[in-house]
Formats: sequence, C-alpha cells, structure tokens
Amino acid sequence: MSVFARHDFKNEKALIRVDFNVPLNDQYEISDDNRMKAAIPTIKKVLADGGKVILMSHLGRPKDGPTEKYSLKHLVPHLRELLGGTKVLFADDCIGEQAFQMASSMQPGEVLLLENLRFYREEEKGNEDFAKKLATLGDVYVNDAFGTAHRAHASTAVIAKYFAAGKKMFGLLMEGEVSSAEKVLHQSEKPFTAIIGGAKVSDKILIIENLLERATDIIIGGGMAYTFMKAEGGSIGNSLCEDDRLDTALQLMEKAAAKGVCIHLPSDSVIADKFAADAETSVSPSNHIPDGWMGLDIGTMACDQFYNVLKRSRTILWNGPMGVFEMEKFQHGTRSIAKAVAEATANGAFSLVGGGDSVAAVNQFGFADQVSYVSTGGGAMLEYFEGKVLPGIAAIHE
Ligand code: AMP
Repeated sequence: MSVFARHDFKNEKALIRVDFNVPLNDQYEISDDNRMKAAIPTIKKVLADGGKVILMSHLGRPKDGPTEKYSLKHLVPHLRELLGGTKVLFADDCIGEQAFQMASSMQPGEVLLLENLRFYREEEKGNEDFAKKLATLGDVYVNDAFGTAHRAHASTAVIAKYFAAGKKMFGLLMEGEVSSAEKVLHQSEKPFTAIIGGAKVSDKILIIENLLERATDIIIGGGMAYTFMKAEGGSIGNSLCEDDRLDTALQLMEKAAAKGVCIHLPSDSVIADKFAADAETSVSPSNHIPDGWMGLDIGTMACDQFYNVLKRSRTILWNGPMGVFEMEKFQHGTRSIAKAVAEATANGAFSLVGGGDSVAAVNQFGFADQVSYVSTGGGAMLEYFEGKVLPGIAAIHE
C-alpha cells in the first residue's frame, strides 16, 4: 500500500496541490472537466478518513495578478457536484489572513478551494517565502498535480521542504502516473517498444536518445518519419521535413544500430496532393513519394509492419500520432496502432500512452480503457521519458 493510502487523515488539514487548469469558455463554463475528475479519488479518501481538504491549483497564465477570467471560483459549483454535494468553501486569496482563518476553522469533511496560485508571480518563481506561507495552511502536503511535476514552482516543489517526512506524499493520481512511468522506464519487461510520432523530430530527439538506452524497438511514425526517410536518401516530395535535423536523424539511427535497437520506419504512406481534409489521396512507398505529394499518414503495409512488432512486445510506450488523425482521410494509421496497442495489452503487455495528441487519439477512437495507463501529464511525461528529474517528484522524496 502506498504512503497516501496508508495515511489516516482524521482531523488533519490536507493541503493538496491539484491540477485544475481546465478550459473555460466565455461564460466561464468548463468545457472539459477531466483534470478535475482525476483528482476526485484523492479528495474523497481524505474526506472519508474524516480529514479536511484544502485545494490549491493554477488556472491559465494570468499576467497581471487577479483577473476574473482566471479565477478558480468559477469551478466551485462543479466541484461540489463532482463531490456529491460536499460543502466547498472558497478563499479569494491563496495566502493571507482570510485563507488562514478559513483553513483554521474548517470542519472534518469540508473542502476549501484557494484562489489561483498564479495570481502571485512568486508561484512560478518558486519563491520560498510564498511557499512557506502556503505551507502554514495544512498539516500534510499532498501533491496530485502530475501535469506540473516538471516545474520547480512554489506549490509543486519548494513547499515540500516545510513538511516533515511522512507529512508529504503523492496523491492517488500522481502515484499512478509515477508508478506507471517508472514501470516503463526502469522495470520494463522486454521486448520494450516505444512508438514515437507527431510532427517534429526536434521535439522528440531527447526522448529517442533516452529510449535508445532502454527500448528494444522504436517505431517512428507521423510527420517526423520523413526527416528520417530523407536522411537515408529517400524522396519525400512535399512531406514535412526538418532539413536542419537530417544529421541528427542519421546519428540517432547509427546509435540505434550500435546498441542493437531496431528502428522501424513506415514502409508506405498515405499521400495527399495538399494538406487538407478534401485532398486527393494515394498510397506510395514512404521513401518514393512523388513531387507535389506529401505523406500524411502511414499506409496499410506500415500498419501491418508495426502491428507485428507490437504483438510481440511486453512493454509499450506511445507518444505522438502516426498521421494527421484530426482529418478523417489520414486517421487510419493512428487508429490501427491504437487497436494494436489494445490487442497487445489484452495479451498481457503493459502499455502507457502519454503526450497530448496520442492521448486525444486513444480517447477519440475509444481505446482509452483498453490500454494499461493513459497519462494526464503531457509535458511532464515527456520530460520524464527524456530522463530528466522532475522537481515535483524529487521534492517528495527529499
Ligand atoms: P506533436 O505535437 O509533435 O506530437 O504532433 C502532433 C501533430 O502532428 C498532430 O496535430 C498531427 O496532425 C501532426 N502530424 C502527424 N503526422 C503528420 C504528417 N505526416 N504531416 C504533418 N503533420 C502531421
């Protein structure tokens, strides 16, 4: 059992850093509440123990202090609903006398939401004084905001030093994220296949380099595959290409060969005469794309090629789509990879999908509950797999 699950919060004030950075429309209505839902199990456990919950979060990127548009007060009614009618108090300043008084007079079973942390510049600066003031609000610090774990902010990292060991811990969401990521990176059963897709090689160099130390196979799809194709001497027509990364692509392939890691590039592509949903399409070998055409998805041969790699994999990490899956004509590749990952998972593989667009894809195609873990933290997950130490994780362990 984890530290959080074992802890008895009875009569304690749990100061929980959540990621309630949800999109709001012009009427301040929440258009996607997944981040709020993800924190509910942690909140409920504290309440069920007879504890008091103090929630702190950021919302958006306010530049000049308090702004109506970025106020967390808009989330109060929906939070109450998600908690089945539990009383939710709101403090319109995250530090100061009022917040302190409200926190002090809370009853077990109550929830207090603090105003947006980023109304203070000190939050992103990781200011110690600010972190210390926040820390006075709670008896125990719980970090459940994996989405900001790669930031050394006051509420995500610095604050932890004001709590003794045993009084700082991950919440259930963060624990799930960290343990799945660790399982893939440090305890992977082999063969371990990483599927890396998306638009740009430049965004994925560090992750590929780190995976070369751990994976047995790396599947490369999406727009970034064409830089690799061109680096190997292929013709790629008008496909996406980063000419300043051709050398990097070659070096990555050389390193992979030296380490015995198999790099799989898509043998064929669905090509289009323009980047548009109504483009004319055809199929071509990925390294013989005619002039005037561009590869916008992996082809059916590539789907089979990748399926064969995935079906014998015991660990799978997926980051980035195989094509322009936002357009119907170019979504087959991403959908078929999602299906292959689901099938491998049903046969006992551990699969983790992380990174904004691949998460959107598994959700869109209905495979989210057929993979082992879908990460909520895009940037944080990417940095973790690049091999970086995430301040939000390190702070709890220190
Ligand atoms: P990233 O944020 O780097 O993971 O890239 C995701 C984006 O890459 C998605 O919006 C896809 O539409 C886009 N993408 C994937 N494959 C291609 C391709 N072959 N050509 C252009 N864009 C692509």
